[in-house]
Amino acid sequence: MENNAFLVSIVVPCFDEADNIQPLIDRIQDVLSPYQHEIILVNDGSKDATQQAIESVAATYKSISYLSFSRNFGHQTAIKAGIDYAKGDCIVTMDADLQHPPETIINMLEFWGQGFEVITAIRIDDANLPWFKKWSSKGFYWLLSLISDENVTPQGADFRLFDKKIAAVIRNMPENNIYLRGLFSWIGYKQTTLKYKEEKRFFGSTKYSTKKMLKLASNGITSFSIKPLRIALAIGVMFAFLAFGYGVYAIIVMVLGLTVSGWASIVAAIVFLSGLQLMVLGVMGEYIGKLYLENKKRPHYLISKTNINGTSPQLDSYKQERRAAVF
Ligand code: UDP
Ligand code: MG
Repeated sequence: MENNAFLVSIVVPCFDEADNIQPLIDRIQDVLSPYQHEIILVNDGSKDATQQAIESVAATYKSISYLSFSRNFGHQTAIKAGIDYAKGDCIVTMDADLQHPPETIINMLEFWGQGFEVITAIRIDDANLPWFKKWSSKGFYWLLSLISDENVTPQGADFRLFDKKIAAVIRNMPENNIYLRGLFSWIGYKQTTLKYKEEKRFFGSTKYSTKKMLKLASNGITSFSIKPLRIALAIGVMFAFLAFGYGVYAIIVMVLGLTVSGWASIVAAIVFLSGLQLMVLGVMGEYIGKLYLENKKRPHYLISKTNINGTSPQLDSYKQERRAAVF
């Protein structure tokens, strides 16, 4: 395909990335200058000078636009907002910290030219990755594949290119608590993966606190599966049978006059069963909470400042109202 026959949109979520903006833009420009492109920087409620850095690069390049959230809405929502506003024939989502080498985009474009609609970049296992990050990520994907129906690509990190057709599908997803890795696996279409070597974060440290990571993990599990509820039910049924059996046993030993004082066994049973009940209730609460939050139908994000004229062109007015409120 001719380089100028299509427009590439690059969507970058930025949270406290002030020092990374300029180097990132330089790298992207180096790689993408032969292509028609736009870059959408989404400032996810940064507390540092990210907004100034963004406005400064936007003043230099007219291909750069930005959306600035009224507060921190999270990485996944920031990507979603960028997709809502992207006008490209294909859209790339990537991190702001240069861990995702822009050169990989060229390889992704080749696959797209061959007709693939979603191209997900997969990190080659890096020996330098912190021990905790590596194993927590491995453990999470193992758990996810065990208890959910989706086959989420491990080592994927929201570094992907997809066709505008897919962008339209994602835009019209009504859910508020979005989990993109699961969603991309759920939608189907013609997908492929390619490997990339993750670079070191350019400036600063990770913006994914343990709390944010746990939230993402819980969202990943509950967004795509009700298996935990079924597992809870299965455990409940199993223990009901056990309890019934134990009841029968208790009656028999009582009739036979074999009862002994069984304080320890009673306490153990109560503690164990009540712990189990609380766990099951917790799982249910997680889903009910999710229903509650989705039902409020609040906009997915609030934009306090942008240099994009008008609202997202691709959303109809009702969805527009729900998806993004701009003040
Ligand atoms: N990010 C964001 N909002 C957040 C946390 C992170 O927009 O609440 C962005 C961050 O600026 C970066 C990307 O998401 O562009 C990935 O975050 P990070 O590099 O900190 O995660 P890690 O690579 O350590 O998993
Ligand atoms: Mg990173």
